[in-house]
Amino acid sequence: MHESCGVFGIYAPGEDVARLTFFALFALQHRGQESAGIATTDGRKIQVYANMGLVSQVFNEETLSQLTGDIAIGHNRYSTRGSSRLTNAQPIVVGKDSNSLAIAHNGNIVNAEHLYKELADHGYTFCTSTDTEVIANLILSSHEENWVDRIRYAMRRLQGAYSLTLLTNHSLFGVRGPLGVRPLCMGTIDGGWVIASESCALDHIGANFVREIEPGEIVVINEKGIESYREEVSRRALCIFEYIYFARPDSVINGRLLYPARQAMGEGLAREHPVDADLVMGVPDSATAAGIGYARYSGISLAEGLLKNRYVGRTFIEPDQRIRDLGVKLKFNPLPQMLEGKRLVVVDDSIVRGTTTPQVVRLLRRAGVKEVHMRICAPPIRYPCFFGVDMATRWELIAAQKTIPEIRDFIGADSLGYLSIDGLIKAVALPKDIFCLACFTGDYPIPVQLEMDKLALETIAIEQQRSSDLKEL
Ligand code: SF4
Repeated sequence: MHESCGVFGIYAPGEDVARLTFFALFALQHRGQESAGIATTDGRKIQVYANMGLVSQVFNEETLSQLTGDIAIGHNRYSTRGSSRLTNAQPIVVGKDSNSLAIAHNGNIVNAEHLYKELADHGYTFCTSTDTEVIANLILSSHEENWVDRIRYAMRRLQGAYSLTLLTNHSLFGVRGPLGVRPLCMGTIDGGWVIASESCALDHIGANFVREIEPGEIVVINEKGIESYREEVSRRALCIFEYIYFARPDSVINGRLLYPARQAMGEGLAREHPVDADLVMGVPDSATAAGIGYARYSGISLAEGLLKNRYVGRTFIEPDQRIRDLGVKLKFNPLPQMLEGKRLVVVDDSIVRGTTTPQVVRLLRRAGVKEVHMRICAPPIRYPCFFGVDMATRWELIAAQKTIPEIRDFIGADSLGYLSIDGLIKAVALPKDIFCLACFTGDYPIPVQLEMDKLALETIAIEQQRSSDLKEL
């Protein structure tokens, strides 16, 4: 499953804002590993440096020292819209002189194609294939006089998911779309302000968490201080996968630290799907806390059955299927002495395509495990995501194509249990109506019919291509 970026912003006169942004991006690396970038302004012009790779590969002393000024924004990218190439790396800078802005985006704009055509018809040119540049040009296209009203104009036109940091020559902005699909929070640092996708980025740079930026809110920070503006919100739709998987367990979202929420998911699984077993393990690292929760509730001993090579990125980061398949072997090494002859409960965060789980089960069986009982924190994923998570087409989602017993057989497990939606909500301990659960239920927070139609056509094209490939064979 693919997530779509981490964003950061800082207003801190007198501080080395580029270096602080570098360390914040380092803490947000899990949200995107394809490219990284930082933009700064010294009040006269905006400078930007971005490149392909991890934050530590992209920046060095020389590049950081050239990014001067009092305001910075930063971005880690995984591509959901727009291909994986340097021109699509963010932040993106648009406009000229005092009419210029830099933007970093986490999310996905559902009506980007329509807006792109409209802007192109009005003479706006695009250097990237990202919906982020559509947002930036939409803001520039507004005839309103100040930046806040221009952003508000764009917010009224945009549909979908967006958490943004923006900078102009004199101000830093944090913007969260009215649905609040992606998180965004703010804090203080030595007389300045920071904005980040997750609170863990604040912790790492010594900033103090103040609050979340609310759905539909624009925060403006400049020499006059901080101001907040709110747009109307009709429905909230925070992505539940932030709690299951995307966000770091030491982050706080909606006042809830993720680590105990994930432990509670494991407890819920033990309550809903008990089994006689000798050991429990969580697939590291994303299901470690849930594994602890399962062990605690069931009374079965906890074991570390797979060791993770921490220097290999998450397998989903590789956009290519061949690399994704290789990824599991590169990533995990089983401990046969711990596992031989054991009946093992394996807790994992989710099953999307069903490509990774069979490999994990095979690895464990080869290490001598007698029984493998898979327990999954996310309910069956039956619908694609249109809000920035590149999880697959419906055709590729295993739970959209197979029953649970068929999935159990396909992955080669002795039993398989998914946490129910109610069990998941209970674990997160927040009201159900603030969440997007669309990939489980198909109930999207906004109409996505056009996207669905497009996807259906793509699916038919893939199927036709496959059947003609088969005929040729
Ligand atoms: S559809 Fe699923 S992955 Fe996408 S935003 Fe909603 S809950 Fe998150």
